[in-house]
Amino acid sequence: MSQYPSASKKPFGLPREPMLEWSHSRQQRFDTCHRAHYYTECARDGSLPDATPLARNARRLKTLTALPLTIGGALHDRATELVKCVRADEPLPGLHELRRRTSAHLNAVWTSSRDRRKHWMTHPTRVPMLRERYYGPLPTEEQLASLAARVDARLVTLRGLPLWAELAACPPEDVMLVDKFASYILADAGGDDVKVWAAPDIVMRTEPRAPWEVIDVKSGNVATGDALARDIAQVTSYAVYLRHGAQVLSEGEHCRGRLVYLGDGTEMSFDILSCDINMAEYRIRDGALAMYEARCAGEAAAAEAVSAVLADDSATPGAVIAEVAERARRESSGYAMTTDRAKCGRCVFAEVCDPHKPPASGVDPASADGAA
Ligand code: SF4
Repeated sequence: MSQYPSASKKPFGLPREPMLEWSHSRQQRFDTCHRAHYYTECARDGSLPDATPLARNARRLKTLTALPLTIGGALHDRATELVKCVRADEPLPGLHELRRRTSAHLNAVWTSSRDRRKHWMTHPTRVPMLRERYYGPLPTEEQLASLAARVDARLVTLRGLPLWAELAACPPEDVMLVDKFASYILADAGGDDVKVWAAPDIVMRTEPRAPWEVIDVKSGNVATGDALARDIAQVTSYAVYLRHGAQVLSEGEHCRGRLVYLGDGTEMSFDILSCDINMAEYRIRDGALAMYEARCAGEAAAAEAVSAVLADDSATPGAVIAEVAERARRESSGYAMTTDRAKCGRCVFAEVCDPHKPPASGVDPASADGAA
């Protein structure tokens, strides 16, 4: 056997600080409930051979999806397929084909959630599971029929968008379809680089001198008030990708944003000034640092508790082990639980957060069986 580390391994694995990370979903979860954010962090270690039960369960629960999210994802997939057709100069698929693909996607998630629960319990990343199926309540037949009608109406709107003709008129090199898992580094002279997972759906410009336009397709009705402000902030944060990810926008340059709401077909365009992008960068850095500081505070609280018991000469090995076993609990206590219990009703981590809550429609998750 070679005395050198394998080529796939880095020989100098020196300890280093984990890089700060940011995404809309992480920020949203952190803002909703710090404890839910903590479980998301735990879930990262859930596939390790020595993962704690909490990490394994958090990883499994994190994969739960919800019907509205699944529908939004299916509509985004159709939008992506349409952009690809435009870029390849191919005819757009007809409504019938869009309906067929969307039905197949949604039915697959529905039946998998119903029939493959056992598989999901052991391999949660391989099969989808609906939150509504796992925790309940399931939608009634009438609610499902109404959802199906809404999905159909959104497909009609999507297929009829003037956007496709606009994209077709753009120079091909000026239409970007960004991978939904794209990330980039928001560099910082002070060393606090942030890895950002936030890329726009579609970027285009009608001619080389025109401003770039960031387009975000939403599956719901047009937003108002705070919700609209959040949507605009989201599109503005995508403009940061143009500066630091795609690097097609320089400091001082502006661009445009466009929100397309499939629920009622409303489109909304707005300028994104250079100072708006600066502010978005600031919000990203600020959010990433806040999450990092929350983790440091949790770890410090746990370490302090463990040090105290280690410093106690009279502590028995059993007491030390018990203290270490409590570490995860103490760590999580550094992350405040939301006081808005309505949010818990939609939280995927309710099962590990509240041990008194009956799991999964009364089914013991350890039994890994029983479709609800
Ligand atoms: S159940 Fe409630 S308190 Fe617990 S993580 Fe979820 S939102 Fe937070």
